[in-house]
Amino acid sequence: MQTNSFDKKRLGIYIHVPFCKSKCAYCDFNSSVCQSAERMTAYVDALVAHMESYRAAAQNYEPNTVFIGGGTPTALPPEELFRIVKAVKHNFKLTKNAEFTIEANPATVSYATLVKLRRMGVNRLSMGLQSAHENELQALSRTHTRKDFARSFKMARDAKFDNINVDLMFGIPYQTTDSLLHTIRYLTRVQPDHISLYDLKIEPGTPFYRNYSEIAPYLPDDDTEADMYISAIEMLRNCGYLQYEISNFARPGHMCAHNLKYWNCDEYLGFGVSAHSYFNGSRFSFTADVDRYMQGVTVKDSRVRITDECDIVEERERMGEYIMLRLRLTAGLDEREFFHRFGLSFETLYAEKCQKFIQNGFMTAKKGVYALTPSGMFISNYILSDLLEFEDFGRIYFGS
Ligand code: SF4
Repeated sequence: MQTNSFDKKRLGIYIHVPFCKSKCAYCDFNSSVCQSAERMTAYVDALVAHMESYRAAAQNYEPNTVFIGGGTPTALPPEELFRIVKAVKHNFKLTKNAEFTIEANPATVSYATLVKLRRMGVNRLSMGLQSAHENELQALSRTHTRKDFARSFKMARDAKFDNINVDLMFGIPYQTTDSLLHTIRYLTRVQPDHISLYDLKIEPGTPFYRNYSEIAPYLPDDDTEADMYISAIEMLRNCGYLQYEISNFARPGHMCAHNLKYWNCDEYLGFGVSAHSYFNGSRFSFTADVDRYMQGVTVKDSRVRITDECDIVEERERMGEYIMLRLRLTAGLDEREFFHRFGLSFETLYAEKCQKFIQNGFMTAKKGVYALTPSGMFISNYILSDLLEFEDFGRIYFGS
């Protein structure tokens, strides 16, 4: 039976490229330095084969967002990156105006590559600046300079990218509230369409974690970080970037549709190592091991299992996740929508617990909508662990 296009469900597609030019000292993403062109080609072969294997399962979907992230997708040889873009378009019927993002780090991309990507339908770039100060960039062991960023950004605009996100960080060694605001002032003059501002977290397994005692004296304390975050929100607002999520700010009409899918609990399908999916009511993720992934997908050896987890998401779990994700958004959680989804009253279940956060200025409840204030967002992990009775998070910080 033919499916009418009106019946087709929306979907997000995520593709993980686990390669970088060098490894940053704070990074715990699944990425590593790869100098072998053959290995990168073999990985892209696996991605293409994997997408093909989902073609039939996704035929009742019309993806309206695509995000190629990592790692550094632009660390791939351009031809390999083009092959991924082609495979997405070949295997999935994207909507006409689908948002199609690629992460591109400064100094890893050429003008010719950007022009070709734009012609192929990629219409959004996400670039990592992190800081406009060389000492802070060096502390993070980023390989680019502010000049590299300025050059890459201009190239992207010249290549007709009119939707560009730039990532920033706060809580960097040596950073002060003034230096962060200086970075923001610089960036708002450059005028990207979207800005993400993440808190630096010291994650186990990273050089920062191993050498914590060496960097600790240079890290801003919790009070300074809170001041940085609140001051940044204010400056961004004054410059026309409205906060719509804990770490995300956009000029009107430029919120990231792909990331909104995660926060709205919509469906998405991930390809590549460590990629997560929420597809057809199931939640699953693929192995973090690049060799295992390539072997399992391309050799089709049934003894090589590439799916790490596969659960039918339980209602209670879905409810907790919904609360957690909706409270990340400045739009907050609407108790009517909650009742519509779960048939339960948010007020009966959680209003009492919310009271202390409301009284202390961390949360608002207006016309049935519960939302965190900027200071509530800064301690959102603490609030959520209290509301949902999670294990203690240890340090108060929020996730990116
Ligand atoms: S470029 Fe990004 S993904 Fe690669 S090591 Fe640095 S932070 Fe991690």
